Amino acid sequence: MALDSARQLRPEAREIAADTAPYDAVKTAMGAERVEIRFDSFKDGRGFSLAAILRARGYDGSLTAIGPLLPDQEEALQRSGFDTVVSTRPVTAARPAPARFPHIYQPDPGATGGAATALHRRALAVRKARAEALAAELEGASPEAILKAALAVYGGRIAMLSSFGAEAALGLKLLADAAPDTPVLFLDTKRHFPQTLAYRDQLIARLGLTGVRDLEPDAGEAAREDADGQLYERDGPACCELRKVRPLARALDPFDAVITGRKRYHGGERGQLKAVEFDGERVKINPLAFVAPEEVTARFKALDLPPHPLVEQGYASIGCWPCTAPTNEAGSRAGRWAGQDRDECGIFDPALTKRAARANAVRLI
Ligand code: SF4
Repeated sequence: MALDSARQLRPEAREIAADTAPYDAVKTAMGAERVEIRFDSFKDGRGFSLAAILRARGYDGSLTAIGPLLPDQEEALQRSGFDTVVSTRPVTAARPAPARFPHIYQPDPGATGGAATALHRRALAVRKARAEALAAELEGASPEAILKAALAVYGGRIAMLSSFGAEAALGLKLLADAAPDTPVLFLDTKRHFPQTLAYRDQLIARLGLTGVRDLEPDAGEAAREDADGQLYERDGPACCELRKVRPLARALDPFDAVITGRKRYHGGERGQLKAVEFDGERVKINPLAFVAPEEVTARFKALDLPPHPLVEQGYASIGCWPCTAPTNEAGSRAGRWAGQDRDECGIFDPALTKRAARANAVRLI
C-alpha cells in the first residue's frame, strides 16, 4: 500500500514523531483507535521505545510504524509492539508480520496453554469493534469500495481465499486491480477437477496474481485418516476437516483478515452476509456480499473474464469432484454435497476453525 493512500484512508490515526517525549506520546495516544509513529531515519531507536512504552501503559489500539524503515527491522518493530510497518523506501510497502510472531502483540492463547489472556481478549475486542464499525459503514457498498476499505485497514495482514471455482474470477480480478501481490490461499484438496487446476493457472497468468499459495493436506494426517482415499464416502465432514479446515487454519496464522467470495444470493446461512464479519479471532471480508447473479454475469462479460471450463457443462458452483454435481440453477450451490445434509465444508465455521487450530498446535509440539 502506498503511504499516501494509506494515510488518506486512515483519517482517524493520530501521528506521533519518534522524538516525542514519552509523556506527551502517551497523552496523545490514549483513546485513539489508531496511532502512527513516524521515523525520520531507520536508525532512530526512539520510535521503538515509544511503541514499547505505549504498550506497557496499556495502549491496545493499532500501532503503525511509518518511515524509511528496512525490511529486516520488521521483527524488532513487531516485538516492540507495532502491528503494521509501512516503509516509505521505494518499492517496499506494507508487509505482513512474519508467521512466527503473533499478529496481535499480546501473547496468543495457543502459546499460553489455551487460556486467553486478558490482554489477548482485549486485543480481540478491539478487532471486533473495528470490524463491526466497518460492517456498518460498508452495508450495501460496491465490491470495489469494500475491498479498498479492507486493504486500507488490514493491508499486509490480509489474504484472499479462493476456490478458483465458477464465480472466482471476478473477486480475483478486483484483487488483481487493487493489490496483485496480496496472498491468495487455494485449498489444494487433491480432489479437484483437473479443469479447476488448469483454470487456476490460467487466471494467475491472465490477472497477474503473484501471491497464490497452494494449501495441501498434511501427508501424515492423510495417510492415517484417509489411507484408502475414500474418506469422502464414509465421512464427508471428516474429509473436509482433513483436506480443507486444518490446512487453512495452519495458513491463517499471519493474517488478521480473510477476503471471501461469498454472496447473499448463495442462500442458506449466507443470506444474511455482511460486508465485514468477525468470527471470534479473524475478520472476514465479503466484497461481493451484495451483488446479484445478473451483476456477476454482466461483470464477467464486461471484463472479458474467462469462464471456468465446467460452467458450460452445467456446474454452477465447483468444488471437489466427489462432492460437486451439475445443477440447473445458475448461481446456486445446489450441486455441492448433493444428497448430504450440509451445504458448507466448514472453513467458515469458527468452532471448526478453532478446533483445527488447536489440533495443529498439538501436532507441532
Ligand atoms: Fe473431501 Fe468432498 Fe470435502 Fe473435498 S468437498 S474435502 S472431497 S468431503
